[in-house]
Amino acid sequence: MISRRAAGVEASGIRKIFERVASMADPIDLSIGQPHFDVPEPVQAAAIAAMRAGRNRYTLTQGLPELNAAILARLAARDGYRGTHSLVTGGVSGGLLLGYLALLDPGDHLLLPDPYFTMYPALAQMVGAGWSPYALRPGVPLTEASLEAAVGPRTRAVLVNSPANPSGRVLGPAELDAVGAVAERHDLVVISDEIYDAFVYDGPHESAARHVDVGRLLLLGGFSKTYGMPGWRMGYAAGPEVLIEAMRRLQQFTFVCAPSVAQHACLAALEVDMSPQVAAYRRKRDRLVTALAGHYEFDVPRGSFYMYPRLPAGLSGAAFVERALAEQLLIVPGTVFSARDEHFRLSFAVSDELLERGIAALQRIAAPVRGR
Ligand code: PMP
Repeated sequence: MISRRAAGVEASGIRKIFERVASMADPIDLSIGQPHFDVPEPVQAAAIAAMRAGRNRYTLTQGLPELNAAILARLAARDGYRGTHSLVTGGVSGGLLLGYLALLDPGDHLLLPDPYFTMYPALAQMVGAGWSPYALRPGVPLTEASLEAAVGPRTRAVLVNSPANPSGRVLGPAELDAVGAVAERHDLVVISDEIYDAFVYDGPHESAARHVDVGRLLLLGGFSKTYGMPGWRMGYAAGPEVLIEAMRRLQQFTFVCAPSVAQHACLAALEVDMSPQVAAYRRKRDRLVTALAGHYEFDVPRGSFYMYPRLPAGLSGAAFVERALAEQLLIVPGTVFSARDEHFRLSFAVSDELLERGIAALQRIAAPVRGR
């Protein structure tokens, strides 16, 4: 009954862990991929006001003109983005699907980072595209040569994600320049997923917009993480007119438009200062880095709200997850995000109290397996 397309998509590895949490009394859940804070009050108020004012109909397919204008104004002011076309999407997930559909024919290829956000390869499978990984090994810079090694005759696009899920890695200016140069040389579109752009801890956000020709850049951003509203399904895409227009046509016959009430709320969200929440996450990052130093090998996460430490020597990801579960601790094995079984992901988007319990458990289970 099921199409090959659907059958080829495996249940998310993270989902399987969520199912195990459901059966635990008081889990220390560090597997979470969303902020622990709630939607700011003015954003809630704007949603309620919009609903009461009857903003319950379809909006234009591309989204409210004033929201698109506000998004482009922010990208221009913060990231020097010079494009003029955008589309409001159903989360960054919606932007990714429409972007893939608009850019990739069956058999085309795209380059994905390894480790990657799980949706990237799953969507490639769904649209019939192939993909090849480019390595983003912790501590090893991304260079033109390492990226170019992954380019093939049917490579059409390269996806970058900075700050990154699952690694917390932030690509530096030279690395983004390398992406821009390889894209230029091989005529690739750069899909830049910047959903974690608000969560940067050691300097301002460095957008691909400053390093990639605006004519070959699809910039994706979102509201889920920044404003603690992942359930509202709001994101945006900015890019060259032909591409945004193609995505708009595809949205017309799929999502129709992003949720109307949420669009009005997002206009209010763009006025809210989230720096206190980001500062709190920076403190959590710092606490985690100090507490796990000497217990695990890891790169300091410069952004997002994840850390991606190496597994203790001698342990597979699956074995380590079991060891963690015995302590009521939930983390995600690196095999969910990578071809390599070398790391695990933990999220620090949790209360300080839960983070402390997580740290104590992580310290207890850090010992390598002896005799191997
Ligand atoms: N990109 C990345 C890197 C993510 O981590 C996520 C959410 N986990 C998304 C995109 C999708 O987010 P949303 O659809 O809620 O905007």
